[in-house]
Amino acid sequence: MTEPFWKTKRLEEMTPAEWESLCDGCGRCCLVKLEDEDSGEILTTSVVCALYDTEKGCCSDYGNRFSAMPDCINLKPENIATIRWLPATCAYRLLHEGRDLPPWHPLRSGDPATVREAGISIIDDVISEAAVDVDDLPAYIREWPRMGPPQPPLGQDREGEEEKNPRK
Ligand code: SF4
Ligand code: SF4
Repeated sequence: MTEPFWKTKRLEEMTPAEWESLCDGCGRCCLVKLEDEDSGEILTTSVVCALYDTEKGCCSDYGNRFSAMPDCINLKPENIATIRWLPATCAYRLLHEGRDLPPWHPLRSGDPATVREAGISIIDDVISEAAVDVDDLPAYIREWPRMGPPQPPLGQDREGEEEKNPRK
């Protein structure tokens, strides 16, 4: 039996279509995050990017997301390790860490609905940042299941690279 591409290819060897198919659409990277200026701790909220379609559970302007939302991360093989808050359930982080995709991942289940059924999708429990005053963001801090610990700090050879997105 042929092994699936995510088991045989390195992230940087994948085609654009394979790379895109790794995203399970959970939306966790679209959550507004706050950074404690004293401790550096990154706190996740239940507020989601204004471009996130809370009805459909996806980016409403995916093709133009980087110009429409400068905070949006451009995830690439070479920056996965620099984005410490990337959820432990994220397929890119899992493969980067040498792990397999979970059974609920659409590439394994064959059904995008399994992400929601497994409680990984944010769609049922978020509010758009368009509806929230920025001063009220701390009131929306919450823990999400299986977000996992942040990735370890960058190694010496990666110093100088920047994490993107958390808002102070
Ligand atoms: S956290 Fe990872 S898998 Fe989930 S939507 Fe973001 S990029 Fe895709
Ligand atoms: S612009 Fe980026 S962060 Fe915002 S919803 Fe789209 S993909 Fe998510």
